[in-house]
Amino acid sequence: MTNAPTQLSPTPRGRVQAMKEYHPPLGCRDALRLDFNENTLACSPKVREVLSRISACSLTRYPEREPVEAIVAAHLGLAPSQVALTNGVDEAIHVLFEAFLEDGDELLLPVPTYTMYEIYSSATDARAVPVLAAADLQFPFERLLAAISSRTKIIAIANPNSPSGSAATRTQLLEIANRAPHAVLLVDEAYFHFHGETVIDLIGTVPNLIVARTFSKAYGLAGLRLGLLAGPADLMRWVKRVLSPYSVNSLALACLPPALEDAAYLDWYVGEVLTARTEFEAALDETGVRRWPSHANFVLTEIGAQHEEFTRMMSAAGVLVRDRSSDPGCDGRVRITIGTREQMQRAAVALNDVLAQLRAGREAE
Ligand code: PMP
Repeated sequence: MTNAPTQLSPTPRGRVQAMKEYHPPLGCRDALRLDFNENTLACSPKVREVLSRISACSLTRYPEREPVEAIVAAHLGLAPSQVALTNGVDEAIHVLFEAFLEDGDELLLPVPTYTMYEIYSSATDARAVPVLAAADLQFPFERLLAAISSRTKIIAIANPNSPSGSAATRTQLLEIANRAPHAVLLVDEAYFHFHGETVIDLIGTVPNLIVARTFSKAYGLAGLRLGLLAGPADLMRWVKRVLSPYSVNSLALACLPPALEDAAYLDWYVGEVLTARTEFEAALDETGVRRWPSHANFVLTEIGAQHEEFTRMMSAAGVLVRDRSSDPGCDGRVRITIGTREQMQRAAVALNDVLAQLRAGREAE
Protein backbone atom coordinates (compact mmCIF):
# COMPACT_ATOMS: atom_id res chain seq x y z
CA MET A 1 0.00 0.00 0.00
CA THR A 2 1.21 3.50 -0.76
CA ASN A 3 -0.09 6.90 0.35
CA ALA A 4 0.85 8.62 -2.92
CA PRO A 5 -2.03 10.61 -4.42
CA THR A 6 -3.79 8.68 -7.18
CA GLN A 7 -5.59 9.92 -10.26
CA LEU A 8 -8.74 9.05 -8.39
CA SER A 9 -8.38 11.85 -5.84
CA PRO A 10 -11.51 14.01 -5.53
CA THR A 11 -11.66 17.19 -7.58
CA PRO A 12 -13.88 20.18 -6.86
CA ARG A 13 -16.26 21.63 -9.46
CA GLY A 14 -14.54 23.38 -12.36
CA ARG A 15 -15.97 26.74 -11.28
CA VAL A 16 -14.43 26.29 -7.84
CA GLN A 17 -11.03 25.37 -9.29
CA ALA A 18 -11.17 28.59 -11.34
CA MET A 19 -12.05 30.76 -8.31
CA LYS A 20 -9.55 33.41 -7.28
CA GLU A 21 -8.05 33.05 -3.82
CA TYR A 22 -8.93 36.02 -1.69
CA HIS A 23 -6.99 36.81 1.49
CA PRO A 24 -7.92 40.22 2.89
CA PRO A 25 -5.12 41.57 5.13
CA LEU A 26 -6.74 40.75 8.48
CA GLY A 27 -3.52 39.94 10.37
CA CYS A 28 -1.45 42.18 12.69
CA ARG A 29 -4.03 44.92 13.08
CA ASP A 30 -3.09 46.28 16.52
CA ALA A 31 -2.94 49.85 15.24
CA LEU A 32 -5.35 52.56 14.18
CA ARG A 33 -7.64 50.48 11.92
CA LEU A 34 -8.55 52.68 8.96
CA ASP A 35 -8.43 49.73 6.55
CA PHE A 36 -11.73 47.79 6.72
CA ASN A 37 -14.40 50.48 7.20
CA GLU A 38 -15.28 49.07 10.61
CA ASN A 39 -16.42 51.07 13.59
CA THR A 40 -13.00 52.10 14.92
CA LEU A 41 -13.99 52.48 18.56
CA ALA A 42 -16.53 50.17 20.21
CA CYS A 43 -20.06 48.85 20.09
CA SER A 44 -22.76 50.23 22.38
CA PRO A 45 -22.08 49.72 26.13
CA LYS A 46 -25.58 48.17 26.31
CA VAL A 47 -24.41 45.39 23.97
CA ARG A 48 -21.32 44.87 26.12
CA GLU A 49 -23.54 44.54 29.20
CA VAL A 50 -25.72 41.86 27.57
CA LEU A 51 -22.61 39.95 26.46
CA SER A 52 -21.24 39.97 30.00
CA ARG A 53 -24.45 38.34 31.26
CA ILE A 54 -24.43 35.39 28.81
CA SER A 55 -24.43 32.20 30.87
CA ALA A 56 -22.35 29.09 30.22
CA CYS A 57 -25.57 27.08 30.08
CA SER A 58 -27.09 29.28 27.37
CA LEU A 59 -24.09 28.56 25.15
CA THR A 60 -24.94 24.87 25.14
CA ARG A 61 -28.13 25.54 23.16
CA TYR A 62 -28.50 25.96 19.38
CA PRO A 63 -29.44 29.53 18.46
CA GLU A 64 -33.03 30.40 17.51
CA ARG A 65 -33.13 33.04 14.80
CA GLU A 66 -36.87 33.67 14.33
CA PRO A 67 -37.70 35.65 17.52
CA VAL A 68 -34.85 38.06 16.80
CA GLU A 69 -35.90 38.29 13.16
CA ALA A 70 -39.33 39.43 14.39
CA ILE A 71 -37.66 42.16 16.50
CA VAL A 72 -35.53 43.45 13.65
CA ALA A 73 -38.49 43.28 11.23
CA ALA A 74 -40.60 45.40 13.60
CA HIS A 75 -37.68 47.85 13.93
CA LEU A 76 -37.60 48.22 10.14
CA GLY A 77 -41.40 48.39 9.76
CA LEU A 78 -41.46 45.03 7.94
CA ALA A 79 -43.09 41.62 8.47
CA PRO A 80 -40.91 38.77 9.80
CA SER A 81 -41.49 36.92 6.49
CA GLN A 82 -39.71 39.81 4.75
CA VAL A 83 -36.50 39.56 6.80
CA ALA A 84 -33.67 37.02 7.15
CA LEU A 85 -30.79 37.43 9.57
CA THR A 86 -27.45 36.16 8.26
CA ASN A 87 -23.87 35.57 9.34
CA GLY A 88 -22.85 39.02 8.12
CA VAL A 89 -23.92 40.47 4.78
CA ASP A 90 -21.24 38.21 3.28
CA GLU A 91 -23.41 35.18 3.97
CA ALA A 92 -26.46 37.08 2.73
CA ILE A 93 -24.74 37.67 -0.63
CA HIS A 94 -23.57 34.04 -0.80
CA VAL A 95 -27.03 32.66 -0.05
CA LEU A 96 -28.83 35.04 -2.43
CA PHE A 97 -26.47 34.10 -5.27
CA GLU A 98 -26.85 30.38 -4.51
CA ALA A 99 -30.63 30.74 -4.54
CA PHE A 100 -30.94 32.66 -7.82
CA LEU A 101 -27.90 32.34 -10.09
CA GLU A 102 -27.73 29.44 -12.52
CA ASP A 103 -26.12 28.53 -15.83
CA GLY A 104 -26.87 31.16 -18.47
CA ASP A 105 -27.71 33.88 -15.93
CA GLU A 106 -25.86 37.17 -15.64
CA LEU A 107 -24.96 39.14 -12.54
CA LEU A 108 -24.68 42.85 -13.31
CA LEU A 109 -22.05 44.53 -11.20
CA PRO A 110 -21.12 48.19 -11.31
CA VAL A 111 -17.36 48.23 -10.62
CA PRO A 112 -15.24 49.00 -8.73
CA THR A 113 -17.28 47.60 -5.85
CA TYR A 114 -17.21 45.26 -2.87
CA THR A 115 -14.98 42.27 -3.74
CA MET A 116 -17.17 39.48 -2.36
CA TYR A 117 -19.89 39.87 -5.02
CA GLU A 118 -17.48 38.68 -7.67
CA ILE A 119 -16.00 35.97 -5.45
CA TYR A 120 -19.38 34.42 -4.62
CA SER A 121 -20.68 34.72 -8.18
CA SER A 122 -17.58 32.93 -9.47
CA ALA A 123 -18.63 29.85 -7.49
CA THR A 124 -21.96 29.74 -9.35
CA ASP A 125 -22.57 28.82 -13.00
CA ALA A 126 -23.66 32.38 -13.84
CA ARG A 127 -21.54 35.02 -15.55
CA ALA A 128 -20.56 38.27 -13.82
CA VAL A 129 -20.93 41.28 -16.13
CA PRO A 130 -18.91 44.20 -14.77
CA VAL A 131 -20.09 47.71 -15.63
CA LEU A 132 -17.14 50.05 -15.22
CA ALA A 133 -17.68 53.49 -13.70
CA ALA A 134 -16.20 56.51 -15.49
CA ALA A 135 -13.07 58.22 -14.07
CA ASP A 136 -15.20 60.23 -11.61
CA LEU A 137 -16.27 56.85 -10.11
CA GLN A 138 -19.88 58.03 -9.94
CA PHE A 139 -22.62 55.39 -10.19
CA PRO A 140 -22.67 54.29 -13.89
CA PHE A 141 -26.45 54.57 -14.23
CA GLU A 142 -26.80 54.80 -18.02
CA ARG A 143 -24.20 52.09 -18.64
CA LEU A 144 -25.94 49.81 -16.19
CA LEU A 145 -29.33 50.31 -17.86
CA ALA A 146 -27.74 49.54 -21.22
CA ALA A 147 -26.23 46.31 -19.83
CA ILE A 148 -29.58 44.86 -18.68
CA SER A 149 -30.51 41.83 -20.81
CA SER A 150 -33.01 38.99 -20.70
CA ARG A 151 -30.25 36.96 -18.99
CA THR A 152 -29.78 39.44 -16.13
CA LYS A 153 -30.79 37.62 -12.92
CA ILE A 154 -29.25 39.78 -10.17
CA ILE A 155 -28.09 43.39 -10.18
CA ALA A 156 -25.92 44.01 -7.10
CA ILE A 157 -25.45 47.62 -6.08
CA ALA A 158 -23.61 48.69 -2.95
CA ASN A 159 -25.20 51.99 -1.96
CA PRO A 160 -23.11 53.86 -0.93
CA ASN A 161 -20.48 51.99 -2.88
CA SER A 162 -17.01 50.95 -1.74
CA PRO A 163 -14.25 51.94 -2.36
CA SER A 164 -15.55 55.07 -4.16
CA GLY A 165 -18.04 56.34 -1.57
CA SER A 166 -20.40 57.30 -4.41
CA ALA A 167 -24.16 56.72 -4.24
CA ALA A 168 -27.02 55.94 -6.60
CA THR A 169 -30.21 57.94 -6.16
CA ARG A 170 -33.58 56.47 -5.22
CA THR A 171 -34.94 57.47 -8.64
CA GLN A 172 -32.10 55.63 -10.39
CA LEU A 173 -32.62 52.50 -8.28
CA LEU A 174 -36.36 52.53 -8.98
CA GLU A 175 -35.74 52.90 -12.70
CA ILE A 176 -33.33 49.94 -12.65
CA ALA A 177 -35.85 47.79 -10.74
CA ASN A 178 -38.57 48.69 -13.29
CA ARG A 179 -36.36 48.01 -16.29
CA ALA A 180 -35.34 44.54 -15.01
CA PRO A 181 -38.51 43.01 -13.53
CA HIS A 182 -37.08 39.52 -14.21
CA ALA A 183 -34.03 40.21 -12.03
CA VAL A 184 -33.42 40.71 -8.31
CA LEU A 185 -32.15 44.20 -7.55
CA LEU A 186 -29.90 43.82 -4.51
CA VAL A 187 -29.24 47.17 -2.84
CA ASP A 188 -26.50 46.63 -0.27
CA GLU A 189 -26.92 49.38 2.33
CA ALA A 190 -23.93 48.36 4.48
CA TYR A 191 -23.02 52.05 4.91
CA PHE A 192 -26.61 53.31 5.23
CA HIS A 193 -26.12 55.05 8.58
CA PHE A 194 -23.46 57.38 7.19
CA HIS A 195 -25.58 58.21 4.13
CA GLY A 196 -29.04 58.46 5.63
CA GLU A 197 -30.86 57.47 2.44
CA THR A 198 -32.54 54.11 1.99
CA VAL A 199 -34.94 52.21 -0.25
CA ILE A 200 -35.92 49.75 2.51
CA ASP A 201 -39.33 51.45 2.71
CA LEU A 202 -40.02 50.23 -0.86
CA ILE A 203 -39.85 46.58 0.14
CA GLY A 204 -43.06 44.87 -0.83
CA THR A 205 -44.01 47.72 -3.18
CA VAL A 206 -41.16 47.04 -5.60
CA PRO A 207 -41.54 43.29 -6.24
CA ASN A 208 -37.90 42.58 -7.20
CA LEU A 209 -36.10 44.71 -4.59
CA ILE A 210 -33.96 43.11 -1.85
CA VAL A 211 -32.00 45.26 0.61
CA ALA A 212 -28.99 44.17 2.69
CA ARG A 213 -27.93 45.78 5.96
CA THR A 214 -24.99 44.98 8.21
CA PHE A 215 -24.23 45.37 11.91
CA SER A 216 -20.49 45.41 11.11
CA LYS A 217 -20.12 49.11 10.37
CA ALA A 218 -21.92 51.81 12.38
CA TYR A 219 -23.08 49.33 15.08
CA GLY A 220 -19.50 48.12 15.65
CA LEU A 221 -20.27 44.37 15.64
CA ALA A 222 -18.05 43.13 12.78
CA GLY A 223 -16.58 40.45 15.03
CA LEU A 224 -19.99 38.95 15.77
CA ARG A 225 -20.92 38.56 12.07
CA LEU A 226 -24.45 39.84 11.80
CA GLY A 227 -26.28 41.05 8.71
CA LEU A 228 -29.69 40.85 7.13
CA LEU A 229 -31.60 40.66 3.90
CA ALA A 230 -35.00 42.27 3.56
CA GLY A 231 -37.30 41.70 0.62
CA PRO A 232 -40.75 40.59 -0.51
CA ALA A 233 -41.86 37.38 1.25
CA ASP A 234 -42.18 35.47 -2.03
CA LEU A 235 -38.48 36.10 -2.80
CA MET A 236 -37.31 35.73 0.79
CA ARG A 237 -38.78 32.23 1.08
CA TRP A 238 -36.21 30.98 -1.45
CA VAL A 239 -33.40 32.74 0.39
CA LYS A 240 -34.58 31.13 3.62
CA ARG A 241 -34.63 27.72 1.98
CA VAL A 242 -30.90 27.98 1.23
CA LEU A 243 -29.91 29.73 4.47
CA SER A 244 -28.75 27.50 7.31
CA PRO A 245 -31.09 27.65 10.33
CA TYR A 246 -27.95 27.66 12.51
CA SER A 247 -25.67 30.23 10.86
CA VAL A 248 -26.29 33.22 13.13
CA ASN A 249 -24.77 32.39 16.51
CA SER A 250 -26.48 32.96 19.83
CA LEU A 251 -24.10 35.72 20.98
CA ALA A 252 -24.90 37.74 17.86
CA LEU A 253 -28.63 37.12 18.34
CA ALA A 254 -28.46 38.22 21.99
CA CYS A 255 -26.64 41.42 21.03
CA LEU A 256 -28.99 42.54 18.29
CA PRO A 257 -31.90 43.86 20.43
CA PRO A 258 -29.70 46.08 22.68
CA ALA A 259 -27.82 47.31 19.60
CA LEU A 260 -31.12 48.36 17.98
CA GLU A 261 -32.43 49.90 21.20
CA ASP A 262 -29.40 52.11 21.82
CA ALA A 263 -30.22 54.65 19.12
CA ALA A 264 -28.42 57.35 21.12
CA TYR A 265 -25.09 55.54 20.87
CA LEU A 266 -25.52 54.89 17.15
CA ASP A 267 -26.43 58.53 16.49
CA TRP A 268 -23.44 59.70 18.52
CA TYR A 269 -21.00 57.46 16.65
CA VAL A 270 -22.37 58.37 13.22
CA GLY A 271 -22.31 62.10 14.09
CA GLU A 272 -18.71 61.78 15.29
CA VAL A 273 -17.66 60.07 12.03
CA LEU A 274 -19.44 62.62 9.83
CA THR A 275 -17.72 65.52 11.62
CA ALA A 276 -14.39 63.69 11.47
CA ARG A 277 -14.92 63.09 7.74
CA THR A 278 -15.42 66.79 7.04
CA GLU A 279 -12.31 67.67 9.08
CA PHE A 280 -10.18 64.94 7.49
CA GLU A 281 -11.32 65.92 3.99
CA ALA A 282 -10.19 69.48 4.73
CA ALA A 283 -6.80 68.12 5.92
CA LEU A 284 -6.52 66.07 2.72
CA ASP A 285 -7.38 69.08 0.57
CA GLU A 286 -4.57 71.03 2.22
CA THR A 287 -2.08 68.35 1.18
CA GLY A 288 -3.30 68.56 -2.43
CA VAL A 289 -4.10 64.83 -2.50
CA ARG A 290 -7.11 64.25 -4.76
CA ARG A 291 -10.11 62.63 -3.11
CA TRP A 292 -13.56 61.47 -4.17
CA PRO A 293 -16.71 62.79 -2.46
CA SER A 294 -17.92 60.21 0.05
CA HIS A 295 -21.34 59.23 1.40
CA ALA A 296 -19.82 56.64 3.77
CA ASN A 297 -17.30 56.18 6.60
CA PHE A 298 -14.27 56.21 4.29
CA VAL A 299 -12.59 58.37 1.68
CA LEU A 300 -10.86 57.20 -1.49
CA THR A 301 -7.63 59.11 -2.21
CA GLU A 302 -5.33 59.38 -5.20
CA ILE A 303 -1.82 58.59 -3.97
CA GLY A 304 -0.40 57.67 -7.37
CA ALA A 305 2.60 55.54 -8.28
CA GLN A 306 3.84 55.39 -4.68
CA HIS A 307 0.66 53.77 -3.32
CA GLU A 308 2.48 50.72 -1.98
CA GLU A 309 5.16 52.71 -0.13
CA PHE A 310 2.48 55.08 1.16
CA THR A 311 0.43 52.21 2.58
CA ARG A 312 3.52 50.60 4.11
CA MET A 313 4.77 53.86 5.64
CA MET A 314 1.34 54.72 7.06
CA SER A 315 1.27 51.28 8.64
CA ALA A 316 4.76 51.83 10.10
CA ALA A 317 3.40 55.09 11.55
CA GLY A 318 0.62 53.08 13.26
CA VAL A 319 -2.19 53.85 10.81
CA LEU A 320 -3.60 51.02 8.66
CA VAL A 321 -5.09 52.11 5.33
CA ARG A 322 -6.18 50.02 2.34
CA ASP A 323 -4.48 50.08 -1.04
CA ARG A 324 -7.28 49.60 -3.62
CA SER A 325 -4.94 49.71 -6.64
CA SER A 326 -5.98 46.27 -7.82
CA ASP A 327 -9.67 47.29 -8.07
CA PRO A 328 -10.86 48.08 -11.61
CA GLY A 329 -10.06 51.71 -12.50
CA CYS A 330 -8.37 52.32 -9.13
CA ASP A 331 -4.64 52.18 -9.83
CA GLY A 332 -2.79 54.38 -7.32
CA ARG A 333 -5.83 54.82 -5.09
CA VAL A 334 -5.90 54.22 -1.37
CA ARG A 335 -9.04 54.03 0.80
CA ILE A 336 -8.96 55.53 4.27
CA THR A 337 -11.68 54.66 6.80
CA ILE A 338 -13.02 57.53 8.90
CA GLY A 339 -12.97 56.98 12.67
CA THR A 340 -13.45 59.43 15.52
CA ARG A 341 -12.27 63.04 15.34
CA GLU A 342 -9.31 62.33 17.63
CA GLN A 343 -8.29 59.29 15.58
CA MET A 344 -8.52 61.22 12.33
CA GLN A 345 -6.41 64.04 13.76
CA ARG A 346 -3.73 61.42 14.45
CA ALA A 347 -4.21 60.02 10.97
CA ALA A 348 -3.80 63.48 9.43
CA VAL A 349 -0.48 63.93 11.26
CA ALA A 350 0.77 60.57 9.96
CA LEU A 351 -0.50 61.40 6.47
CA ASN A 352 1.36 64.71 6.37
CA ASP A 353 4.56 63.05 7.64
CA VAL A 354 4.42 60.23 5.13
CA LEU A 355 3.62 62.53 2.21
CA ALA A 356 6.53 64.82 3.20
CA GLN A 357 8.92 61.86 3.36
CA LEU A 358 7.76 60.58 -0.03
CA ARG A 359 8.16 64.07 -1.52
CA ALA A 360 11.64 64.45 -0.04
CA GLY A 361 12.59 61.04 -1.45
CA ARG A 362 11.38 62.03 -4.93
CA GLU A 363 13.28 65.34 -4.82
CA ALA A 364 16.49 63.58 -3.75
CA GLU A 365 16.32 61.28 -6.77
N1 PMP B 1 -21.23 45.05 1.74
C1 PMP B 1 -20.35 46.04 1.57
C2 PMP B 1 -20.61 47.08 0.53
C3 PMP B 1 -19.18 46.07 2.34
O1 PMP B 1 -18.26 47.04 2.14
C4 PMP B 1 -18.97 45.08 3.33
C5 PMP B 1 -17.77 45.03 4.25
N2 PMP B 1 -16.64 45.62 3.91
C6 PMP B 1 -19.91 44.09 3.46
C7 PMP B 1 -21.03 44.10 2.67
C8 PMP B 1 -19.72 42.96 4.44
O2 PMP B 1 -20.48 43.12 5.55
P1 PMP B 1 -20.48 42.03 6.71
O3 PMP B 1 -19.40 42.35 7.66
O4 PMP B 1 -21.85 42.17 7.29
O5 PMP B 1 -20.29 40.69 6.06
